[in-house]
Amino acid sequence: MTDFAETRAQFDLPEGVIYLDGNSLGPLPRAAAARVARCVTEEWGQMLITGWNKAGWMEQPSRIGDRIARLIGAEPGTVVMGDTLSIKVYQALASALEMVPERRVILSDSGNFPSDLYMAEGLCRSLGPDYALRVVAPEEVMEALDDSVAVMMITEVDYRTGRRHDMKALTARAHEVGALAVWDLAHSAGALPVELAAGGADFGVGCTYKYLNSGPGGPAFIYVAPRHAERARPALSGWLGHEAPFAFEPSYRPGRGIERMRVGTPPILQLAALEAALNVWDGVEMADIRRVSLALGDRFIAGVEAACPELVLATPRAHDERGSQVSFRHPEGYAIMQALIAEGVVGDFRAPDILRFGFTPLYINSEDVDMAVAIIAEVMRDALWDRPEFKTRARVT
Ligand SMILES: *Cc1c(COP(=O)(O)O)cnc(C)c1O
Repeated sequence: MTDFAETRAQFDLPEGVIYLDGNSLGPLPRAAAARVARCVTEEWGQMLITGWNKAGWMEQPSRIGDRIARLIGAEPGTVVMGDTLSIKVYQALASALEMVPERRVILSDSGNFPSDLYMAEGLCRSLGPDYALRVVAPEEVMEALDDSVAVMMITEVDYRTGRRHDMKALTARAHEVGALAVWDLAHSAGALPVELAAGGADFGVGCTYKYLNSGPGGPAFIYVAPRHAERARPALSGWLGHEAPFAFEPSYRPGRGIERMRVGTPPILQLAALEAALNVWDGVEMADIRRVSLALGDRFIAGVEAACPELVLATPRAHDERGSQVSFRHPEGYAIMQALIAEGVVGDFRAPDILRFGFTPLYINSEDVDMAVAIIAEVMRDALWDRPEFKTRARVT
């Protein structure tokens, strides 16, 4: 059994804050500051360029990829770190499309994160007028899978509502119609057990600054199923994905397996932070994370619904159908969230009317939930949100 009091002690959370926004930016693991400082002073400062060899910087992307693999049900040697999630989405889509050359359609759903859809649009535009992104309602993906679809691109957990897709069933259907499946794990990795290999996923991508706590700008990851690893051709064919980067050959040859999905110089300082953040996961069982996160979510839903009938639940109640966040709708959602943040309950707002609250037992417990519920009840009862300063939108919501 995972000791969540012990994991909680490994985070540095500000006094007086109940942090329910780890689904957007995970908090600071205590060990990260020292690890990054060491990377700066001892590695960069003292080793200078020899750090690429001496400190193992060049291997960091695949070494850390293997640690992520354990958390997302991927085989060793199938995950590599680098770039941002949007870039990894592009890479996975481009490789997948090329592997189904007779088809031209990317299928996704309207609950997907806009950047994924934008990247798909941009890719289609550069491939030519025959290529198209088809977007259907989340509940219509299964029916929309037909023999015109080359690639199904789905984010497992909806960033707004927390609704969760059935990875295994959708992937099986995609394969039945001859399509490949690209899964975005932005709100799954570190939030719930993911079975990329067992679920048959062809490609997987995700970020690390949400539930994996790597800090702002932490690198993303990409997974390629072993059966495709030597066949997938990288569209972003950078030198570090080359078979022999230091041969400086005039033209590109893909590197071995997942290494080919590297692009350019890895973000060593961010990887150092991520490495420290991953140490928190060493004694953690994903099944424990899931069990407790659902219990925290249930407790929060029950508390908020009992105290604030005007907040309408946007997240499915069924455990199978949700991720690790709980969302409520209210027309004044933005102002309400600003008032909550002023009172120490940090969640976030997603247009047009969603208040999002992320739960993870790594550093949130049931007392936090009860306190958060009490504060939300007070903000709603006394309409504390109804003030002009809470209604001016900041650049980041
Ligand atoms: C958070 C998130 C992103 C963000 O992409 P970046 O390139 O890391 O900014 C993309 N897609 C999904 C589904 C997300 O949840």
